Amino acid sequence: MRVAVAYPPIDSPKGVPLLSQNRQFQYFNNPTFIYPVLPATAATVVANAGHEVAWMDGIASQQSYTEFVDEVDRFAPDLMAIETKTPTVKAYWRIIDDLKVRFPDMRIALMGDHVTALPEESMTSSNVDFVMTGGDFDVSLLGLVEHLSGGGPPAGLYYRDGDDIRNTGKFESLTRLASVPFIDRKLTKWELYAYKNGNFKYTPGTYTMFGRDCWWRRGGGCTFCSWTTTFPKFGVTTAERALDEVGQLIELGVREIFDDTGTFPRGAWLEKFCNGMIERGYNKKVTMGCNMRSDALTEAQYQLMGKANFRFILYGLESATQSTLNRLNKGTEWDDIKQATRWAKNAGLEPHVTCMVGYPWESYEEAKRTVDLTKELFEAGSIDTLQATIVMPYPGTALFREAEESGWLRTNDWDRYDMREPILVSPIPDEKLLALTRSLYTSFINPKFVIRKLASIRSKDDFSYIVSRGGRYVAGHLKDFARSRTSKSS
Ligand code: SF4
Repeated sequence: MRVAVAYPPIDSPKGVPLLSQNRQFQYFNNPTFIYPVLPATAATVVANAGHEVAWMDGIASQQSYTEFVDEVDRFAPDLMAIETKTPTVKAYWRIIDDLKVRFPDMRIALMGDHVTALPEESMTSSNVDFVMTGGDFDVSLLGLVEHLSGGGPPAGLYYRDGDDIRNTGKFESLTRLASVPFIDRKLTKWELYAYKNGNFKYTPGTYTMFGRDCWWRRGGGCTFCSWTTTFPKFGVTTAERALDEVGQLIELGVREIFDDTGTFPRGAWLEKFCNGMIERGYNKKVTMGCNMRSDALTEAQYQLMGKANFRFILYGLESATQSTLNRLNKGTEWDDIKQATRWAKNAGLEPHVTCMVGYPWESYEEAKRTVDLTKELFEAGSIDTLQATIVMPYPGTALFREAEESGWLRTNDWDRYDMREPILVSPIPDEKLLALTRSLYTSFINPKFVIRKLASIRSKDDFSYIVSRGGRYVAGHLKDFARSRTSKSS
């Protein structure tokens, strides 16, 4: 069977959609392309099973729609699998309907967190043939391919039976990841994503996912996070196998790896992995990065990560108001972040924090407090970079359900769930909210910080990361949250 794993290009005046491997969707003015680990694993698994697979990322390839259609025409897939998220689903319904007219024999499947939450919506709103629910795209895509080749259908599949829409029940979570093959990086064009990514100091860089997805499960995980819904159970590969994958990537020429497990494995797994990085000498050849929770590690474990050559470490700060953290089921204390970033920094890591504003229950003073306390972290030298977003209630999350029940949703037009405007009602006027978001980006541009950063330049990589790419990304983010957007969209 001929199978395409595709991201059709979306022509939008808002910028380039950051669709692949992204937890909080945004259109970016300065494009960042993140390697889509899960679709790439799915492509690999299907190819390994003897099928002909084409990787068609029209977004990262910066193709026009016509160029994308020409590529589809040349490859003539029997099946195309497309990942979508909430803000792109309507555009993809239109594209799917167009593709079904142009290529009536090609079957199309949608996958991703949005369609996992609302599978029937896409079946009734477009001519898509299948919706694959759940986050283990490798399992569901291979299952669908085998089904189309004569086997039984996989769990979690929505399909058409004449005019009826049927499904095969709840999807299953894959938890034993040690049997998942290493991604065929060449097949999945890894170099498309190796350079245009503001998080990489050393290029070429790439992504891994040693775990799916986050071990923070108490009370169902953070209420705004859709990844705990798409991966109801946490699974992780072995530390040895993770190290083998790192070794393979080093041979490929990779200089920096970001492991995008929702929260990187902790405890004995983490120590085994770090010791393995040191024993195998990988810490001299590649730089590691990961997502981390602020309450997860000891000071000694941060020191070990430093020795293993971890650099970029990303924390979800979310808010500086404790009652907001409690309400989000974040399970952390505000003080945790201060201690964790200090320990990380002392170990030589470069902490990055993400935070959000626009919670329906937060006052302007509380949101501003997040900005002010983040500034303090910068001034204390505990944080190197940050990302600011407006809180988004994605379907399938506990926050979305809470918002529906509380009447907080301003719209169900998914096109608008792209962080350009608040979707949740807020006591803070839109313009003030966007100004706060911008001020989070500008909070670190103070003379002391600039001098410290310039003084830290030791190499060409430092220069390119701090001065050249860093400046471009900040300018891009400021444009992403520019003043004009509110007046246009609200
Ligand atoms: S810690 Fe991060 S990945 Fe885990 S549930 Fe919370 S937001 Fe999601």
